[in-house]
Amino acid sequence: MIKRIGVFPGSFDPFTKGHEAIVRRFLPLFDEVIIAIGVNSNKQYMYQTESRLAHVRSLFEGESKIVVEAYTGLTVDFCIAKEARYLLRGLRNTTDFDFEKAIAHMNEAVSEEKGHPIETVFLMTNQELSAISSSIVREIKKNGGSIGSFVTNEALLIINTDAK
Ligand code: ADP
Repeated sequence: MIKRIGVFPGSFDPFTKGHEAIVRRFLPLFDEVIIAIGVNSNKQYMYQTESRLAHVRSLFEGESKIVVEAYTGLTVDFCIAKEARYLLRGLRNTTDFDFEKAIAHMNEAVSEEKGHPIETVFLMTNQELSAISSSIVREIKKNGGSIGSFVTNEALLIINTDAK
C-alpha cells in the first residue's frame, strides 16, 4: 500500500498551540506527517531554525508518525523529495482562506507540471485557538509580555539575538 504522507509547511516562528492542535487532528488521517519548517534567506525570523526545530521536535517526542525538518526552496519540491502527495494547512478565517486558495491553486499547477500532483488538505482551526497567530505571539514577546498561553514548552525557544 502506498504510504499517505502529508507535509505541514510553515514558518512556525514560533510554533503555537494552534499549529500543535491542527497537527494532532491531521495525524489520524495520514501514515506520516512531516512538519516542514521553512527557511527563507530573505526573511528575518525571531527564532533561529535550530531552536524552532528543537522546539517542535520536543512537542512530538515519541510520536512515531511525525517527522520534523527544515527546508529551503519550493514547498512542492520538498514534497516531491519526500514522496508526499498531500499538503496540510489550517484555516482560521476568511483572510486565511483567500491567501490559502491562491497558494493551493499555484501549488496544484506547479506540482502537476512537475508530474507529481499534490492535493492541499485543509482543516478548520479549533474555535478557541483561532485567534492565535505567530505574528501576534512575536509582538507580545518583543514587548516583554508572556507567551506561555499560546506556545507549549516556551523555554525551548531561544531568541535570535540579531532579529529585529
Ligand atoms: P506561513 O508562514 O506559511 O503563513 P504559519 O507558520 O503562519 O505559516 O502557519 C502555517 C499553517 O498553520 C498555515 O496553514 C496557517 O493557516 C496555520 N495556522 C496558523 N495559526 C493557526 C492556528 N491558530 N490554528 C490553526 N492553524 C493555524
